[in-house]
Amino acid sequence: MPIVRVALDIPLATLFDYTVAEGVQVAIGQRVIVPFGKRQLVGVVVMECVATSDVSAERIKPVTQVLRDSAPLSAELLTLLNFCSDYYRYPIGQTVLSALPTRLRSDKPIIAKPILSYRLSSSGAALDLENFPKRKVVQRRILAKLVEQSCNLAQLKALSATVGAQLKALVAEGWVESFDGVSDIKSSVRPERNAVKSKGEPVEANSCPSTSSGRTDCVASKHVFDNAHTLTSEQQLAVDAVTQASGYGCFLLHGITGSGKTEVYVHLMHHVLQRGGQVLLLVPEINLTPQLENYFRSRFPDVNLMSLHSGLSEGERLHNWQQAQSGAAQIVLGTRLSVFAELPKLALIVVDEEHDSSFKQQDGLRYSARDVAIFRAHQCGVPIVLGSATPSLESYYNAQSGRYKILALTGRATATAQLPTVRCINTNQTVMQQGISENLLREIEKRIANQEQSLLFINRRGYAPVLMCGGCGWLSDCKHCAGKMVLHLNDKRLRCHHCGYQIRQPSACPSCGSADMHPVGSGTQRVESVLQERFPNARILRVDRDSTRNKRAWQTMREQIHANEVDILVGTQMLAKGHDFPALTLVGVLNPDSALYSSDFRAAEKLFAQLMQVAGRAGRADKPGEVMIQTAFPEHPLFRALQTHDFAGFAASQLAERKMAGFPPFTYQVMLRAEGKVESDVYAYLNRAHAAAKALQMDVEILGVVPAALARRANHLRAQLLVQANTRRAMQNFLRAWQPHLEGFNQAKLRCSLDIDPLEF
Ligand code: ADP
Ligand code: ZN
Ligand code: ZN
Repeated sequence: MPIVRVALDIPLATLFDYTVAEGVQVAIGQRVIVPFGKRQLVGVVVMECVATSDVSAERIKPVTQVLRDSAPLSAELLTLLNFCSDYYRYPIGQTVLSALPTRLRSDKPIIAKPILSYRLSSSGAALDLENFPKRKVVQRRILAKLVEQSCNLAQLKALSATVGAQLKALVAEGWVESFDGVSDIKSSVRPERNAVKSKGEPVEANSCPSTSSGRTDCVASKHVFDNAHTLTSEQQLAVDAVTQASGYGCFLLHGITGSGKTEVYVHLMHHVLQRGGQVLLLVPEINLTPQLENYFRSRFPDVNLMSLHSGLSEGERLHNWQQAQSGAAQIVLGTRLSVFAELPKLALIVVDEEHDSSFKQQDGLRYSARDVAIFRAHQCGVPIVLGSATPSLESYYNAQSGRYKILALTGRATATAQLPTVRCINTNQTVMQQGISENLLREIEKRIANQEQSLLFINRRGYAPVLMCGGCGWLSDCKHCAGKMVLHLNDKRLRCHHCGYQIRQPSACPSCGSADMHPVGSGTQRVESVLQERFPNARILRVDRDSTRNKRAWQTMREQIHANEVDILVGTQMLAKGHDFPALTLVGVLNPDSALYSSDFRAAEKLFAQLMQVAGRAGRADKPGEVMIQTAFPEHPLFRALQTHDFAGFAASQLAERKMAGFPPFTYQVMLRAEGKVESDVYAYLNRAHAAAKALQMDVEILGVVPAALARRANHLRAQLLVQANTRRAMQNFLRAWQPHLEGFNQAKLRCSLDIDPLEF
């Protein structure tokens, strides 16, 4: 009887053997249901017909059922997952299963629910939009969109936060009708349409006889392409470098904000789509996806674009994943997990904002989607483009040493858009109003008078990071963590941002009874209230995790900002990323200094990237922007580099420091973390791991066992052990030898994890 080896979601570094009854066909990559103990589990067949199994034949149980309602995983994807399991030292079964959409991990039959599409009914088509009530803004938008093409809900959602309800209203009026239109979407684009937006000439893509990548067969496909801009010469050079390369190549597209990186992606995509290839575009895990999705749809109006991110329902996710798997999705736009999407015709990978730490998964399979994407591009023999205004020092170093090819965009794409001026305000020499300097307040005032927007950037939500007693010095420590509880004044609570523990704000000191309680430091809420006091007529919008908890809130806010219904924005890093706010001309940065003395060697790199990014928000349209940074260290090289927009200089000094200190990218790291309720258990485990590592006498540097940056969280003590090697190979050899020892140690009461190439310290 044939035996198959099955990957299961079980925390053991092994596959499981099952027999297959005579006459039953089962392919590699197929999903199966198998008995496991008393349970029935869904697994994936990864190997077939093993001649000798480790388990004696009569003890092997048979496969319960072969699931044929989804196509088998490709050998290529299984190879990729195998590599990840091996590289990240994570069980193969869990690796394979975690790459699948939730629906495919369950044994419930996949009933492909039709994904409804919407189009104008005949009465809807007869409507005169000019005379449609102006105040029904969203309905107008929906109708205007549907005049162009039929859309499904996901596509319409990008128009506004309230699309669902408004669409229902339109259907009830009989102006819009739904139909089961997944496969129909493309053909339902009006064939006679030829004007795609006013700004650009639509281009009918020509079929092209030559293949560009090593892989894509030349299945020429025609699509409408909104070629909005003539490329600048730098953009053209970048596009040519990638399209002329054959097979694998890693390109670092280093372009300042506003230099037109997206335009380069669009042209590369166009090139690949013409040849029938699929494009994978990876973006950070942020609320950017609907916006970007809309943007790419507008540039490729009849191309099948599918997004894959956590905002989708399970059904949508499965649907989009299967569209990718069948090759029907021509562009897949997704966050980190989509690096594992099946893409049979993959011809190009783009990783936008490649430096962003959200590409790294922080639990389970702790992979870096950027690094896996590079492996995948190599595996498939296709080019990969990493784009950023502030590349990670790892990528930048690889580009400098010639492993990646650098493509530089040094100027802003639109001639009128200038880089913002950056100034430091020395907080030791200026009048401060509860954390905001008087100079900055005056600048904000000017912006309000000119009907321009200001943004105040502060990386802390809540009112104040800590509450203090003036009588005895009591501080609002979290009783479960090593951190402080943050004061949230709008609901009068102290809240721990690490474990979620919260209490009512005490009116008197819990320790001495004094009523002399002060908030110390500033968070977004405090900044908001200071501004409110100073500018009572200004429209202030706070954007942080608290104010955007509601799923659609952030999108509504973005609409407000665009409609210029906001004068001052106060926000955390949520505001820093990739948003284009044309009326924004002033950015104030309130408390950047803590990163300068952080124990994390990447803190400066992260701060620089973040500040470059916020600075990039200012003056994107035709108005010049200004950035003001409040700091006690105005002479710090980081701020100096920022003022001169000198990434190269900053990177060079950071790399020199890293080289001296023996940090990445000059070394490769692995972090063993452990946490548990009993301190001695945690340290006993890590000390044994330390001893085992030493005993191996391999070519690695083993650092000491130390407490984690947050030494206690939710009553768990946390510690870690760092190991460094000079090459990836040395690290991998060491890990192969070390990991079996770790599994042998008692860790019943501990949570332990190995983090390869860790980003968080
Ligand atoms: P980045 O992604 O590098 O921050 P974008 O791609 O968003 O930059 O481009 C910034 C702005 O410049 C956008 O409004 C874009 O439409 C415009 N743009 C890009 N390329 C060109 C070009 N070749 N000619 C004119 N405008 C361009
Ligand atoms: Zn007190
Ligand atoms: Zn806590």
